[in-house]
Amino acid sequence: MNDRIAKLKSRLMEANDIALANALLYWDQTTYMPSGGAAARARQSAILSRIAHEKLSDPEIGRLLDELQPYADSLPYDSDVAALIRVTRRKYERVIKVPPAFVAELSSHTAESYQAWTGARPDNDFPRVQPFLEKTLDLSRRYAEFFPGYAHIADPLIDEADFGMTAKTISALFTELRGQLVPIVDSITSGQLADDSCLRLNYPEAGQWAFGIDIIRSLGYDFERGRQDKTHHPFTTKFSLGDVRITTRIHEDDLTSGLFSTMHEAGHAMYEQGISRDYESTPLGEGTSAGVHESQSRLWENVVGRSRRFWEHYYPHLRAAFPAQLGEVSLDAFYRAINRVKRSLIRTDSDEVTYNLHVMLRFDLELALLDGRLAVRDLPDAWRERYKEDLGVAPADDRDGVMQDVHWYSGFIGGSFQGYTLGNILSGQFFEAALRAHPEITAEIGRGQFATLLGWLRDNIYTHGSKFTSAELVQRVTGSPLTIAPYLRYLRGKYDDLYPIP
Ligand code: ZN
Repeated sequence: MNDRIAKLKSRLMEANDIALANALLYWDQTTYMPSGGAAARARQSAILSRIAHEKLSDPEIGRLLDELQPYADSLPYDSDVAALIRVTRRKYERVIKVPPAFVAELSSHTAESYQAWTGARPDNDFPRVQPFLEKTLDLSRRYAEFFPGYAHIADPLIDEADFGMTAKTISALFTELRGQLVPIVDSITSGQLADDSCLRLNYPEAGQWAFGIDIIRSLGYDFERGRQDKTHHPFTTKFSLGDVRITTRIHEDDLTSGLFSTMHEAGHAMYEQGISRDYESTPLGEGTSAGVHESQSRLWENVVGRSRRFWEHYYPHLRAAFPAQLGEVSLDAFYRAINRVKRSLIRTDSDEVTYNLHVMLRFDLELALLDGRLAVRDLPDAWRERYKEDLGVAPADDRDGVMQDVHWYSGFIGGSFQGYTLGNILSGQFFEAALRAHPEITAEIGRGQFATLLGWLRDNIYTHGSKFTSAELVQRVTGSPLTIAPYLRYLRGKYDDLYPIP
């Protein structure tokens, strides 16, 4: 039996190593590669995607899984071997349905589409990306069709990112959350907006970079097993559990964009850095779902990083780093500024309360594109209409509209947006569970100490990698299924202090 497990692991490692070498090519493409490298890089990336896919869909893996199944069935559900067989089988059954030629076509298209977006966005040139987006939509539909039997064509894409979820379950959850959020947003934005002009002064890049690095080092991001570089649209990537990298962007006229995206990506990376080394190079060695992943980035970015306690400790340091800009700004004023609730255009820069409205709108647009109710050429107008309806503002151009972020230009249409709001919901639920276990966490954050919180998250969430599904993990860790109540308690508690919510 051990021999078969070793054989399986060695095959999985080979497939995984090729996939992660490909991830390195993507990291390079989005950080340092000169634009002249784009065409060759798209080709190289497509070849590696195809080979990794072929390795993972090798019938020998299917045979080994079949041989190991009776043994796995005799083991406890949460044993590492039982989990390895279970999760590998789920992944294997998925990949064998997708032809390698499709994977190569998708990869090559994605690289070209990303390149087109980086050029078209500054020029506000939607017609330049429209054909790429049309092809992306076609590829997304074709991908879904490899998994017949779905109720909505988005379901296979959603299931892959957030296992067990469907367009229907997510839509129901979002409707419930929207019903609670809209009155909170209305109430807050009907009053006086907080003044955040102190955040929009000139903050030189070097100072912002150094401050961000100091913060994430103290949160617990391990620079011996990672590094940070600059990019257009921040992301986290991994080449092994010993090398989990983050990227950020810094705007000198905006203090918050770089700072909070640095904390956000560090949250994703600490999750991956915390996975048990025993799972390296297997399907267990990665975060379990998009929603759980996002719960960690949002927990560190918002629940911790935008809390008053956090800044009680760090604000004096920030003020010392930028005395000319913040010397006259009180902690209270700064805290209100970084938590200003405003109906705005850009999702990634939006506040915690309105953020979910951006996500829900994108999720609905994805469903409409996929099921044919909306054509790509009509997307910019549909975008403006939905923003007007849901947020009361509409972008003057496509640069800050439909081309505002890399999504849809660097991956499927469908399957990625629900994770952001699931992540917010779960960040509230997980943090409440952490506080139940360790009430001292709140005071520790006020002293710039994060070891208790990080330790709890590692022991309860990170170490398990993909051993448990999102639904299993939430039940184990919090004692209940996914629920919006803790997240709403968190939002109400915080914003009631900042702005009285009736
Ligand atoms: Zn994220």
